[in-house]
Amino acid sequence: MKSFTYSGSPARILFGSGRSAELNAAVEALGCRRALVLATPHQKADAEALFERLGALSVGVFAGAVMHTPVDVTEAALKIVRETEADCVVSLGGGSTTGLGKAIAYRTDLPQVVIPTTYAGSEVTPILGQTEGGRKTTVRNASILPEVVIYDPDLTLSLPVGMSVTSGLNAMAHAVEGLYARDRNPVSTLMALDGLRAFKESLPLLVKSPDNAAARAEALYGAWLWLGTVGMALHHKICHTLGGSFDTPHAETHAVMLPHTAAFNAEAAQAELAAAADLFGGSIGGGLWDLAKSIGAPLSLKDFGLVEADLDRAADIATENPYWNPRPIDRASIRILLQKAWEGVRPD
Ligand code: NAD
Repeated sequence: MKSFTYSGSPARILFGSGRSAELNAAVEALGCRRALVLATPHQKADAEALFERLGALSVGVFAGAVMHTPVDVTEAALKIVRETEADCVVSLGGGSTTGLGKAIAYRTDLPQVVIPTTYAGSEVTPILGQTEGGRKTTVRNASILPEVVIYDPDLTLSLPVGMSVTSGLNAMAHAVEGLYARDRNPVSTLMALDGLRAFKESLPLLVKSPDNAAARAEALYGAWLWLGTVGMALHHKICHTLGGSFDTPHAETHAVMLPHTAAFNAEAAQAELAAAADLFGGSIGGGLWDLAKSIGAPLSLKDFGLVEADLDRAADIATENPYWNPRPIDRASIRILLQKAWEGVRPD
């Protein structure tokens, strides 16, 4: 066996149906008494219900979280944190809300309790992506990792099928990149593979029947399995470029790009991707595209309003300051990859 480094994630995980009822105890166990509840405008009513349930343990609700964690929204939330003298944040929602909680924690070191309601998986990473001046940048820091995550599959029953599909493919993208990450270790590989299996099995069931509680739990389990402890490569660089500079929707962009970036790296990371390729019928790129198509995922960047000329600028930005990738990156091949994803063709 090759040498490796493994650092266990110190986050406390509570997983299971109904476990969001343990929120008050989780806040108290952190030694906190003044929780600020965060959500998107869409989940404001749920956040207010949580605020009521927290009673004396909560000082307010900030329901202004938006996609890609814009710095001005973080600053508005920080103002409320200061005014209310909050001593922790409770993030209820998907990656956008978790992102806001992380951005606050990064600047204040306040503890975070996250109750995820999508499969984005952001709650188990020490990574914060934020947007300012049209560019998305990422930072990795121990203060960003949430202290407690409460996974309650009951709260994902309301996640619309389309979002369940794209959110699941978003999590699968993390797992695929985890398999060939330079800093992968035996544990991250085991978890990434079981995460891919969990989504491959649960997503088609959810599409058929969104109320399938067992499939919902399996998908949320798949989301947790990506612990985000290992690095990211080309796939994430392209998605960050498209999201940050062209404002494409986050999970949908991951869903479109994943089969193409996996196919791009298939040969260079053949050994690392072998077990995943087996799971998807022998071809990692083609197999992921077939799954995406069969569950009604978006398949083309065209659908997000991008025009062909945008692809030139996207190729420039994505190769300007590239992340490490198993296959060397050059502008011409990234432009071709983007063209295929724009047209929505099945990768080879
Ligand atoms: P999201 O958080 O933006 O949610 C999309 C919409 O769905 C929101 O309006 C939200 O309120 C609503 N929603 C969420 N759960 C729901 C539910 N159960 N029922 C009904 N509506 C629900 O979407 P997302 O895909 O979870 O997150 C995307 C964001 O997460 C991006 O900004 C991305 O950069 C970030 N992200 C970060 C990491 C990381 O490690 N830093 C990882 C993954 C995603």
